[in-house]
Amino acid sequence: MRAEIISIGTELLLGEITDTNASYLAGQLPLLGVDLHWITQVGDNQARLVDILRQAWKRSDLILTTGGLGPTEDDLTREAIARMMGEELRVDSTLEQELRAFFAQRGMEMPPSNIKQATIIPSAQALHNLQGTAPGWWVESDGHIIAAMPGPPWEMRRMWEGEVLPKLRQRLKRAIILSRTIKAFGLAEAAVGELVHPLLSSANPTLAIYAKPDGIHLRLTAKARKREEAQKRISQGEARVRAILSDRIWGTDNDILEVMVGELLKAKGLSLATVESCTGGLLADTLTDVPGSSAYFKGGLVAYSNEAKIAWGVDAELIARHGAVSPEVAEAMATAARLRLAADIGVGITGVAGPDELEGKPAGTVYIGIDDGKTKKAIFGNYPAYRLQVKLRATTAALFELRKALAALD
Ligand code: ATP
Ligand code: MG
Repeated sequence: MRAEIISIGTELLLGEITDTNASYLAGQLPLLGVDLHWITQVGDNQARLVDILRQAWKRSDLILTTGGLGPTEDDLTREAIARMMGEELRVDSTLEQELRAFFAQRGMEMPPSNIKQATIIPSAQALHNLQGTAPGWWVESDGHIIAAMPGPPWEMRRMWEGEVLPKLRQRLKRAIILSRTIKAFGLAEAAVGELVHPLLSSANPTLAIYAKPDGIHLRLTAKARKREEAQKRISQGEARVRAILSDRIWGTDNDILEVMVGELLKAKGLSLATVESCTGGLLADTLTDVPGSSAYFKGGLVAYSNEAKIAWGVDAELIARHGAVSPEVAEAMATAARLRLAADIGVGITGVAGPDELEGKPAGTVYIGIDDGKTKKAIFGNYPAYRLQVKLRATTAALFELRKALAALD
């Protein structure tokens, strides 16, 4: 577990107080076996606080904050955490009651501004403050924890000892669980299952297989007492999956094919154009889902009929000889795309969306043509599925082949 401490308060930056909270907490963490990587001091400034929290959330598992939980306008910790988490603050009725009771006991009217100390976000749990009015927050999400504690040192210590420490001890006993998804295309789910069969009986990491619209996802999950150990197990599992599926693998975790294609095109300074038949423009549609795709995507033509294919530049002879669904016509469509739209790379898709066969070819037969100006090729695919699935699979196949072809280009 990697920890960081954020001490909040302009007084710290003005040199008016010494950061004894951070020193205290820094002394506590080694006793838990938690590595402390950073201590930051930040003033009572919403934007800077949100910035620091964002950074901490990215790089640390445990974030301890002190200060800024008071009722005044310059106490911004709750607001900043809510903003960083993208969650809305709402008044918690139990907290409100406790707060009102605190004032009532002392025979005081609660100042209206104190109500903000009763606010919370969905990911947070309140931490009791036995010494003052400001409850702390325990925020837990995505494997990260924030413990937000008050600034006054005695309040902070009481909360640390009474609330935070017991929760952390509990967490640390639990194993660390990590997972990684490997994304493949071009094999059926069952075929993938057979290929990786030896790994399926592995207990740590476990391997699960899912059929998704963009292919087959293989999810490795490892458990260990230490993050490094879980990480090592994931890496070993991934290496074995990669050795088996090799170039069927196109990405991992949050990778999206159309985004990867776009990034490759941008990196290589190349433009793309499409001529689609059986997919009816779905490839162009998918490519343009990516923000900034106008930088590399010139456009796409839907050449559904033979007349349209001929009008865009596919040789009528070729269609007559090989049929509209053929590797030759897929390549000619790719060339037409490249030339008609003055692009570096052209892609053509022709196939039988079904449900009926065409030219004696069964529904699901697809050819993807790619022409990069130097070489042309056509890739055959067969996707036995219903019409919309054929369109979707053919589109994914085109993106998959395009990614492979682009990665190989120098
Ligand atoms: P309050 O309800 O008192 O406003 P708070 O959670 O908003 O609590 P701050 O306003 O940030 O906390 O700090 C209150 C006081 O606690 C400060 O004036 C200072 O005396 C002390 N304090 C705050 N942060 C630290 C720190 N990092 N180290 C030592 N003392 C601190
Ligand atoms: Mg304060």
